[in-house]
Amino acid sequence: MRILLIGPPGAGKGTQAVRLAAHLSIQHISTGDLFREHIDQGTELGQNAHTHIRAGLLAPDEVTIGVIKERLARPDTERGFLLDGFPRNLAQAEALDGILADSKSRLDAVLDLEIPEAEVVRRIAGRRLCRRDREHIFHVDYSQPEVAGACDVCGGELYQRDDDREATVRKRLEVYRSETAPVVDHYQAQGLVTTISALGQVQEVLDRALVAIGQGQVDASGASSC
Ligand code: AMP
Repeated sequence: MRILLIGPPGAGKGTQAVRLAAHLSIQHISTGDLFREHIDQGTELGQNAHTHIRAGLLAPDEVTIGVIKERLARPDTERGFLLDGFPRNLAQAEALDGILADSKSRLDAVLDLEIPEAEVVRRIAGRRLCRRDREHIFHVDYSQPEVAGACDVCGGELYQRDDDREATVRKRLEVYRSETAPVVDHYQAQGLVTTISALGQVQEVLDRALVAIGQGQVDASGASSC
């Protein structure tokens, strides 16, 4: 399957993407993670992207599209992929349409995670990531690690992203509204979008997502399971 996960910062895209990709045995590709790897390695691309990321802005399209094109060309995406954080504007969506058309493939679904902005700020301010594996995500209130400051999975140090400070989060929300929300309309016109609520427990949102892409079941009470 080839899936896009769209939603404002703090909607839980990273958390859900890891679980969905594992459930479906497809690659999880996050442009944010790819940039953070470049930043850690001190590459020129990483330094360029970091200037934008720190300010809560989007990295330049030519850089971002180049990164994703290279990633999608790797053989491990042949079974499918879940894109988390790309495309984030119409130019990127059109570039992705072109990349897929060139490889004679197409998207199966676009999942749009919906969440009130007040909840976004609350979630992001408390978010902590593992330095060893950024797919291990915690929260100071909602998902506390057993040992404060340490990852439950691998013991890595937990840290706060420098773009998770409140002022930067508000800027990122503004960018989402003006640049990324139109991407949902772009895919709505292709009949690919299902909007689901990002509120509730991680498993509840995952169940909704699986139902939305036809991989889960809804029981008689209306609840869903995978
Ligand atoms: P994320 O981890 O998805 O929240 O991304 C963190 C930051 O990386 C974003 O706020 C942007 O500055 C940058 N970024 C990630 N994906 C993209 C993209 N598709 N286009 C431009 N910038 C991006």
